[in-house]
Amino acid sequence: MIAETVFAEGLSFDPWWWEAAPRREVAAPPLPGAADVAIVGSGYTGLSAALTLARAGRSVIVLESREIGHGASSRNGGAVGETLRHSYTALAGRLGREAAIAFYHGVREARAWVENLVITENIDCRFARVGRFVGAHRPADYGAMARDTEARRRDIGFDADMVPRSEMHRVIGSDAYHGGRLIHSDANLHPALFHQGLLERVLAAGATVVPHTPVVAVRRDGSRFRVATGGPALSAGAVIMATNGYTGRASPWLRRRLVPIQSQIIATEPLPRDTVERLVPGRRQLGDTRRLHNYYRTSPDGARILFGGRAGAGELRDRRRSATQLHRQMIGIFPDLERARITHAWAGFIAYTFDALPHMVEHDGVHYCAGYCGSGVAMAPYLGHKTALKVLGSRGAATPFDHAYRRMPGYTGTPWFLPAAVWALSVRDRLRV
Ligand SMILES: Cc1cc2nc3c(=O)[nH]c(=O)nc-3n(C[C@H](O)[C@H](O)[C@H](O)COP(=O)(O)OP(=O)(O)OC[C@H]3O[C@@H](n4cnc5c(N)ncnc54)[C@H](O)[C@@H]3O)c2cc1C
Repeated sequence: MIAETVFAEGLSFDPWWWEAAPRREVAAPPLPGAADVAIVGSGYTGLSAALTLARAGRSVIVLESREIGHGASSRNGGAVGETLRHSYTALAGRLGREAAIAFYHGVREARAWVENLVITENIDCRFARVGRFVGAHRPADYGAMARDTEARRRDIGFDADMVPRSEMHRVIGSDAYHGGRLIHSDANLHPALFHQGLLERVLAAGATVVPHTPVVAVRRDGSRFRVATGGPALSAGAVIMATNGYTGRASPWLRRRLVPIQSQIIATEPLPRDTVERLVPGRRQLGDTRRLHNYYRTSPDGARILFGGRAGAGELRDRRRSATQLHRQMIGIFPDLERARITHAWAGFIAYTFDALPHMVEHDGVHYCAGYCGSGVAMAPYLGHKTALKVLGSRGAATPFDHAYRRMPGYTGTPWFLPAAVWALSVRDRLRV
């Protein structure tokens, strides 16, 4: 009963983003028999690779098993940051200072590259350098972030400031955190409009994009590849697998290296403007240091709050239940939103890797580019572009993210351990340990 009261009439399970950028049902063009490059997956990775390759004069086919942009690229929170799952100090402790500096330079370049892409391609996707505030869930998190900020500033430069709890209302209308870190250079955008803009540029560059055509297998065929679909097969000179959290049985090699994890978002109904301005001053991107972290923001028009996170331990099939749980988490941060009803609730899959770092790599001649660990709005288009440069044999392809995936012995692609792991993390969050 309580669950029903949080939903507005006509609750939609489609992303709120699709209101401005609906998934268009495009008729699948006939599959040509051959192409220079076949790309599997039509999200940011696949489209960005396609754009670079098509503009370099290659014939390119993007194959998508569902409608174009069905995956995370039209569903995400739209945060664009210089973000890795490991803090700079944690990464330096693990891999050494030099490697940590290289990876952090890499994410900075990715963020800047995406901003430049939006500007030079003139993609109207509400890109805004709003900054991001990350709230400390535990007092110790504040100290750790302060030390990390200092080290990052010293070693690579970092446009960020610590905000003590006493000044927190300057950046967020909540008392839920023990202060936090404000990263000025971070931005956000409308993810589905960004995807749509990319798609339009890819089509204009002459690439073919084919929906409803799942690739079922990729095999070597002499010096080329045979890309098998449910229907006719395609001969390709090179193949890029860009399937990230939706990687299936067509690519067992990649599946063994990725852990797909579901993430959910709810959108509130339009709220009084002064409420939103008080809770989210400056329309900043917001998040926290929970182990199962929440990420949230306003809609680009400043009318709604879009609140994302992980609503439970299992893979959530009961979408009303998971939306209710997210709503509860949201009012834990913003008690004023208790009566704000949900108009949209949706989910999508991200892909984690066993070293919690993004990867692109070539294996047996096939290019793989996936595993952004929830930071793909910047990393996916950037590494898609880098992978395309690698296919073209360009020296510009070099990046520290071109490194081998790590594996977990015995893991074949079904994350049986996830419910227990997520449950344990949620308990630690609740106990703040
Ligand atoms: C709810 C949510 C919130 C997120 N928030 C953020 C955020 O705020 N900031 C951020 O940086 N990142 C965020 N992410 C992550 C980000 O969206 C992804 O990392 C990024 O979109 C990955 O892009 P991609 O092109 O690699 O994969 P996707 O966009 O997932 O596309 C993969 C495509 O491959 C297709 N496919 C799979 N198998 C086949 C096959 N055999 N044949 C043909 N096609 C196939 C799928 O149908 C899918 O369309 C979020 C993700 C989710 C789900």
